[in-house]
Amino acid sequence: DASLSIFARASHYGIRFTLLLISDKTEFRRLDEVRRDFVANISHELKTPIGAVGLLAEAIEQAADDPKMVKHFADRLQTEGRRLAGITREIIELSRLQAEGALTSFEKVSIDDIISQAVDRNRVVATTKNVDVTVGGESRTFVYGDAGSLIVAVDNLISNALQYSPNNSRIGIGVTRQRDCIDIAVTDQGIGMTPDEAARVFERFYRTDQARSRTTGGTGLGLSIVKHTIQNHGGEVRVWSRPDNGSTFTIRLPEATEYPHGETP
Ligand code: ADP
Repeated sequence: DASLSIFARASHYGIRFTLLLISDKTEFRRLDEVRRDFVANISHELKTPIGAVGLLAEAIEQAADDPKMVKHFADRLQTEGRRLAGITREIIELSRLQAEGALTSFEKVSIDDIISQAVDRNRVVATTKNVDVTVGGESRTFVYGDAGSLIVAVDNLISNALQYSPNNSRIGIGVTRQRDCIDIAVTDQGIGMTPDEAARVFERFYRTDQARSRTTGGTGLGLSIVKHTIQNHGGEVRVWSRPDNGSTFTIRLPEATEYPHGETP
């Protein structure tokens, strides 16, 4: 038992270590709370679609004579199925990132490529909403990391920007060099959020009231995944936002300054 062994050590070394014991116990309790919250949240998030799947299957059975209604319920069943698959995928991804705490593959990757692939993944939604997505700033910058997870992280910021923005608005993606770091900022003209909300958006399952009241159901896991990915790369992610005035999410990563194969930046 961790706290017991710390106590044993504390009494062995005398009074100075009592403080260590207290802070360790608090950390222990905090982690336990976080873990319990996570399980409670997962159960809550899964209950709704699982319940819906059962009800929709029943509805299909009862509507067997009415092909139109069968089709209607079957469509909704597919939507709930996709939602369940999405939540499960995100939970597994988040657990993987938290458990590994480090990266599996680590190579020199081009920020230009990361951004262009992340933008490509959002092209259909951007066109549908007639949102203009522009990329600017520093080009030919590099970081060390896992290209796949970095694309997912930037993709998440862009898809959020699209999701929480009105039609016919603009999204700007800007790359800047800050001393030995590279900043990737994604700015939208969307619903924004209060400082209190902004302080919580990286928590697992957290969604603002405004986001919850929208029909497009997210999970509140996307930004936790971004945060863990970027932390695993030795970087950080921040948000600046004001209600009804849009948001800027910035990913900061250490710049890759060595060019092992002799190429110039
Ligand atoms: P999801 O989008 O699936 O709900 P995320 O973890 O990606 O989950 O985001 C958490 C919450 O942060 C969202 O529900 C929303 O309330 C808020 N949010 C994220 N990105 C933006 C944005 N660009 N503009 C306004 N609110 C945002």
